[in-house]
Amino acid sequence: MKIALIAHDRKKQDMIQLTTAYKDILKKHELFATGTTGLKITEATGLPVVRFQSGPLGGDQQIGALIAKNDIDLVIFLRDPLTAQPHEPDVSALIRLSDVYAIPLATNMGTAEILIRSVEEGAFEFRNIVHGGDRDA
Ligand code: PGA
Repeated sequence: MKIALIAHDRKKQDMIQLTTAYKDILKKHELFATGTTGLKITEATGLPVVRFQSGPLGGDQQIGALIAKNDIDLVIFLRDPLTAQPHEPDVSALIRLSDVYAIPLATNMGTAEILIRSVEEGAFEFRNIVHGGDRDA
């Protein structure tokens, strides 16, 4: 599966905790991230991550482009709900595209844990059913 990981600055520590705790699951999948988030994940866990631009410099839009090609299966986007972001339109666009393509999207740690656990349990096979069986499980 292809998993996109993004965390706003005040949520990066949460992302490190999450990816460290679930490293054994995540290592079986292809990981994509915005620039700084990806760097911190790799530094903390050693997991290989395909990194795009930093979020404010277009990274959210690059991940959005993958979603628009149906090339992402799960988005973990730990947003900071208490801080204004200069790239708020990009944040909204990424969430909107996830909804357009019915991509499972977690915006907080609680949902993120449930979705990562469900990956391991094979719950994402539904994407094969809905999308005609042309997806990696
Ligand atoms: P970053 O971008 O991983 O480069 O910090 C995340 C974001 O702010 O969208």
